[in-house]
Amino acid sequence: MVLVLATQNQDKVKEIREILDSEMKLTIKTLAGFPGVTLPPETGKTYKENAIQKALFVAKRTGEVAMGDDSGLEVDALDGAPGLYSARFAGEDVSYSENRNKVLQLLSGLSDEKRTARFICTVAVVSPQGRVEVVEGVCEGQIRSLEQGQGGFGYDPIFFYPPLGKTFSVLGFSEKHRVSHRGRALRAIIPILKDMSAHDV
Ligand code: IMP
Repeated sequence: MVLVLATQNQDKVKEIREILDSEMKLTIKTLAGFPGVTLPPETGKTYKENAIQKALFVAKRTGEVAMGDDSGLEVDALDGAPGLYSARFAGEDVSYSENRNKVLQLLSGLSDEKRTARFICTVAVVSPQGRVEVVEGVCEGQIRSLEQGQGGFGYDPIFFYPPLGKTFSVLGFSEKHRVSHRGRALRAIIPILKDMSAHDV
C-alpha cells in the first residue's frame, strides 16, 4: 500500500519512516513527490482536527491513503502552552532553539516538581474513499532547566524522560521511538493500516 505523509516537517517524516519501516511493508511517499499539493495553514482547535484536516486534504488531492499528524508539548506550569502552537511559540518562522529558549525563560526558577509536561501526538489516516481513523500517543516528562544533548529535534533537548533518566536528545532513535508520543501513536495505527491495506485499497 502507498501511504503519503501529510507533513512538511522533515524531522517528523524521518521519525515516521523509521518507526513504520521497522513495523510493516509500505511504500511511504512524502509531499515532495506531489509538487502541486501544498498543505493549507492549520486552523483546527484540537490536534485531532488538524491531523484529520491534513490527512483528508492529501488523500483527496493524491488519491492515495494519507497520514496527517499534529503534535505538541504541553507544560503544566504554562497552563498547557505551547500546545497547539508548539511550532510557532516564539513567533512565526522561528527556530526550534528560539521556541526552547522561550519555554526555558518562562519556567526559570521553578522547582523540578513544577516542571511537569507531556508530548502529545495525534495521527489520522484517511483512505481515498473517506475512511477516517485517529489515534493518540502521549509521553509524560519534565522540562529541564538547561538543554542536554544534541540529537532529535524541536523541544527534545529540554524534554526529560524520568523512567530513562535522560532528555529525548540524549536517547538514541530507537530508544526515543519506544517511549515517545509519536512512537506510541504510530504503533497504535499499524493494525489499522494493515486492515486498510487489506480492505480499502
Ligand atoms: P506540528 O505537529 O507540525 O504542528 O508541530 C509540532 C511542534 O511540536 C514541532 O515543531 C516541535 O517543535 C514540537 N514537537 C513535536 N514532536 C516533537 C518531538 O518528538 N520532539 C521535539 N519536539 C516535538
